Amino acid sequence: MDAALGAPEKMRERREELTPMMRQYCELCERYDDALVLFQVGDFYETFCEAAEASARLLEITLTKREDSTGTYPMAGIPIDSAESYIETLLDAGYRVAVADQVQDPEEASGVVDRAVTRIVTPGTLTEDELLAGDDNNYVAALAVGSERESRPEGGGRDGGSIPGAGEYGLALLDVSTGDFVATGSDSAETIRDEISRFAPAEAIVGPDVPEDFEGFDPDCMVTPYDPSTFDLEVARERLDAYFGVPEKRLASDAEIRACGALLAYAEYTRGGTDADGDEAGRLDYLNHLTRYEPREYMLLDRVALRSLELFERRAVHGDAEHTLLGVLDETACALGRRQLTDWLRRPLLDPDRIDTRLDAVEELTTLVGAREEIHDLLTRVYDIERLIARISRGRANARDLRALKDTLDVVPEIREAMDGVESGSLSDLRAGLDDLEEVRGLIERAIQESPPIEITEGDVIAPGYSERLDELRETERDGKQWIDSLEKRERERTGIDSLKVGFNQVHGYYIEVTNPNLDGVPDDYNRRQTLKNAERFYTPELKRREDEILTAEGRADDLEYELFAEVRAEVADEGERVQALAETLATLDALVSLAEVAAKYGYRRPEIDSPGSGIEIEGGRHPVVERTQASFVPNGVRLDREERVAVITGPNMSGKSTYMRQIALIAILAQLGSFVPASAARIGVVDRVFTRVGASDDIAGGQSTFMVEMRELATILRGATESSLVLLDEVGRGTSTADGLAIARAITEHVHDELGAMTLFATHHHELTELAERLDCAFNLHFSATRTDDGVTFRHDVSRGAATASYGIEVARAAGVPDSVVSRSHALVEDRQEALGDGGRSVDTDADSRSRPDSGADSELEEELRGIDVANLTPIEALTTLDRLKRELDSN
Ligand code: ADP
Ligand code: MG
Repeated sequence: MDAALGAPEKMRERREELTPMMRQYCELCERYDDALVLFQVGDFYETFCEAAEASARLLEITLTKREDSTGTYPMAGIPIDSAESYIETLLDAGYRVAVADQVQDPEEASGVVDRAVTRIVTPGTLTEDELLAGDDNNYVAALAVGSERESRPEGGGRDGGSIPGAGEYGLALLDVSTGDFVATGSDSAETIRDEISRFAPAEAIVGPDVPEDFEGFDPDCMVTPYDPSTFDLEVARERLDAYFGVPEKRLASDAEIRACGALLAYAEYTRGGTDADGDEAGRLDYLNHLTRYEPREYMLLDRVALRSLELFERRAVHGDAEHTLLGVLDETACALGRRQLTDWLRRPLLDPDRIDTRLDAVEELTTLVGAREEIHDLLTRVYDIERLIARISRGRANARDLRALKDTLDVVPEIREAMDGVESGSLSDLRAGLDDLEEVRGLIERAIQESPPIEITEGDVIAPGYSERLDELRETERDGKQWIDSLEKRERERTGIDSLKVGFNQVHGYYIEVTNPNLDGVPDDYNRRQTLKNAERFYTPELKRREDEILTAEGRADDLEYELFAEVRAEVADEGERVQALAETLATLDALVSLAEVAAKYGYRRPEIDSPGSGIEIEGGRHPVVERTQASFVPNGVRLDREERVAVITGPNMSGKSTYMRQIALIAILAQLGSFVPASAARIGVVDRVFTRVGASDDIAGGQSTFMVEMRELATILRGATESSLVLLDEVGRGTSTADGLAIARAITEHVHDELGAMTLFATHHHELTELAERLDCAFNLHFSATRTDDGVTFRHDVSRGAATASYGIEVARAAGVPDSVVSRSHALVEDRQEALGDGGRSVDTDADSRSRPDSGADSELEEELRGIDVANLTPIEALTTLDRLKRELDSN
């Protein structure tokens, strides 16, 4: 364990000798031994010993010492006022932070001040706006495997083999800041990995049965095993029951119950937690919904696809949000809508009816131009009420938060009015769901000042007229202050001392100040309060009486205000579920308006949604992101169906192959999330998965050889694709030598064609594959061409049927000034090669070692063998060794 965690060794050894305060520190460190403890001492959070050394280094703060009768301890502290930015640095460095606050007024403490951990800050459970990056969801995940001890067969144990069957893996995801809580499960580790990628959790806890080599989490996700007892089936079941009722009704497997239960336990723990005596300090009352989904309810987008299609680059270092699909789609007006849209994009639908319901709403909104703009403007006044209500329920909201909720509720009737004309079922339903929570709105309006301060303990929070008692106290305070305000004038007149002043200070209260030369004129009823260098300060019995009255009234009023505020806050929290339902309605509306806005702005059309496996037909399709950055974008169509499902796409570099393939996938994704699409017409037979593989993208950072990565991803594709999947293979096989690459590309094309029946787009610079497309029944060639001009080559970016013929690379070379002799020799070589192709109809590779191979008409042994390989059932290692063997056979021939 990190030396900065747990109790410092120096303290642990001599616990009995420590001062009470240091013993307290030591105990808190032991209890929260997976976190760095920030220990409040006055206005600072202090750390000691190893933790002090680590934080001094990390936070660049001064390392000092604390000395007491028992010894000297290294110490480093941060000011409480600016703690959040330091905590952020600690989180980035991979620490959890346990914040131990003084929970007792130091003046009331008889010995050492009581301290308690009030929150544990972790990357996945953030709730502080300062720490959360923008509006995006921030998830913590829990993963459990299997149904655990009790249902394992006797003596089966962990190494007795896993229990196969549905629900082997249970995954739970929670956004503590919004209360969004979802669960899913699968018996396939692959599927669970993909589901994890969809949500990109910032942190994950794993159960005792999760294999140590489980690779499903991103490198920047903080993964830790968590208290196995919370993963215990019975414990988890009880905890879930307390929140949502019988878990079996919502969840599909024991693993899911265990993951959800443990995640709740962890979330509670980070809130200061349930302590040993079962105190429910950590309960998250605003968690009202647990949504369970089946991975196959949504289009499967594996993590490679998410990245290579640039849907959203979350947490990317150099992520340019504009140049992602989300960037183009996001015309939302509020945080609620933005999160909703992100979620739709993360989980495109498969059910044609559900898709059409969204499309109906979008279509209607595209026609209601005026209403749409009005709704959009109104939605910009909507606050993030999902996070607000979560804060309100946690008792962490201030008066401004309540006002923000009220301001949002003010807008609701206006939105309803703007939606008066809607007809479609989905928009009418949304309109009906616009609950303005009149009682809550009224309560906040009556109770809370219009622009309250952030502090809730210092008054000025409760509006006048809300509480008679409070108004009386404030009246007394005001009267007293008025009396004092006029006191100076009165006393100057009475005493004839023109420089006499009335003032106030925290320690001595109100006073009358008279400078030394005037002390003779001081009346008898003045009592001395304080002596300064040049003046004396006095009070009179009446001033003292008034002062007491004011201070008492003020103190009582402040206390009363806080009490009233807490009451109002609790009353609002009681309506938490209704606020959440409203948040969801507003979120959906905002996301739909955004889709309609984008459709109108960029000329998108409504796609026709067809049954799975019925193919894809697009006319005049465009790439939604590239067309935004391109002065003129050339539209292209496609038609994929049962008969023609494998397209081999050739064409020179930069001609538009990659863009074309991606735009087809993006159009399918857009259609299935309920958006109009950048095409003049589109019919999309629902796509169950989009797979992508882009060759030659070195994954050096991941520490794996390119080829290994390529094979691994191919294995996934070849195992998972179905007839309604869309597979994009972009320059597969480029990561290795040409001969290998070609062999792989061929084998894959054949396999995809013969075995999978998936719709496949295969862009390749291996010209030889065009011949393959002609040979396979359901494959066909597409190509991108270019126009020769005097300056060389211009790419037209339009796709046509058939194979590309000319080699424009040579033209580019000529344009670049390569000597004529070289250019004509190149042309001659190309002609040789085309003749060779024409003769045997077989491929000839320019690679040296394949050139030396005799070209025979029949399949060589090697080819036979290659055909015999069942790629779908090869592990990556097997693929490598097979390839190695084949190569050696080749060399020995
Ligand atoms: P390839 O994969 O064939 O090398 P790309 O798809 O990467 O080519 O396209 C290269 C560049 O050409 C893109 O970055 C884009 O700027 C432009 N481009 C691609 N397709 C089109 C198109 N249909 N209309 C206009 N420009 C395009
Ligand atoms: Mg390309």
